[in-house]
Amino acid sequence: MLDKALKLIKELTEHNYKAYIVGGFVRDYLLGIESLDIDVCTNATPREIKEVFPEGFLPTEDYGSVIVNKYGIRFEITTFRKEFTYQDHRKPVEIQYIDDLYQDLLRRDFTINTICIDEEGEVIDFLGGRDDLERKIIRSVGDADEKFNQDALRILRAIRFATVLDFQLDEEVVEAILKHRPLLRELSYQRKKIELDKMFVSGHAEEGIRMLLEYHMDKYLELDKLNEVEYTNSLIGIWSILNVEDKYPFSNNEKELMKDIRVAMKLNNYDPVALYKYDLYVNSVAGEMKGLDKKKITEAYNNLVIHSRGDLAVSSEEIMECLHREPGEYLSEVYEDIEREVLYHRLANQKEILLAYIKEKFTSI
Ligand code: ATP
Ligand code: MG
Repeated sequence: MLDKALKLIKELTEHNYKAYIVGGFVRDYLLGIESLDIDVCTNATPREIKEVFPEGFLPTEDYGSVIVNKYGIRFEITTFRKEFTYQDHRKPVEIQYIDDLYQDLLRRDFTINTICIDEEGEVIDFLGGRDDLERKIIRSVGDADEKFNQDALRILRAIRFATVLDFQLDEEVVEAILKHRPLLRELSYQRKKIELDKMFVSGHAEEGIRMLLEYHMDKYLELDKLNEVEYTNSLIGIWSILNVEDKYPFSNNEKELMKDIRVAMKLNNYDPVALYKYDLYVNSVAGEMKGLDKKKITEAYNNLVIHSRGDLAVSSEEIMECLHREPGEYLSEVYEDIEREVLYHRLANQKEILLAYIKEKFTSI
């Protein structure tokens, strides 16, 4: 990936612009972690970047970075800038394009995110980022108090990086978190969720949650049930315990799933009827959140006599014929009854046996 990134910045330097790889890619590269996308900074303006990369485009929501998809990689190319006034503790409302890499690095959040690589592959580290990488420390670029007041998302980013990378927060960063944490209320739920998702899928979610609780973030993030999350192997499982679909954004599918998981949390997830009704995935997630044995759940699911209505040895037509009745509400009652009996091995899944049972039990209804 580095060779492709170097190729891309060379295209800019060949046009006499300065260009460096910066941010997450360099940080993760030095740590031996794979990155998904690559941030590039340059003194070329967005218009000039687009002259070099005509396929580049500017997403409207963003801060004037040009996105270029090349060599199968998503590059986010940002012009060196100074940021001035900030609105709502989040968005810089006034920026100025500049020519100077060092000045650009000063506007960034943490030292580990300021390390650059130039077109020769040389590491440029003006702000001691490599030292902090080695010491595993999240340290603010400049005054943390000021940085977090300007942009409150940096509070969550600090905790996210500490969680994902298993780093320590610098003392000054902790102080600034404690001072400015009420500002978290002003951030959009969408932005907050992006950071929280990254923590929850990281494999260190437990440590992240511990940190969030330590700094009483549950209050400011409106995650009242954060202290109820025990097992953390599933992102959707964590969110279903947090139960904040009224605030944080989720797709309808995810909402349905979380509702089912919450019901399944209260069921015995080895129980055949629970497994039949809520399927393997929902029960596995619920089971995981309760510390149950996933293999045993899967085994129990695979051993179900039936997995869907279609597996029953009788059809709706046969049920209606045997009861001499037209279709109606009663059918679901019959189905639920025989499904339960079959799942619990009280009735064999055989046509004559099921029909005899149905005739006996439901003829009078
Ligand atoms: P990742 O891409 O792994 O989430 P990243 O550090 O690359 O982490 P991006 O959001 O891609 O994060 O931002 C790229 C770089 O821009 C960061 O490394 C940092 O230098 C700077 N940056 C991003 N967000 C902020 C912010 N809120 N305040 C200051 N600098 C920021
Ligand atoms: Mg990035």
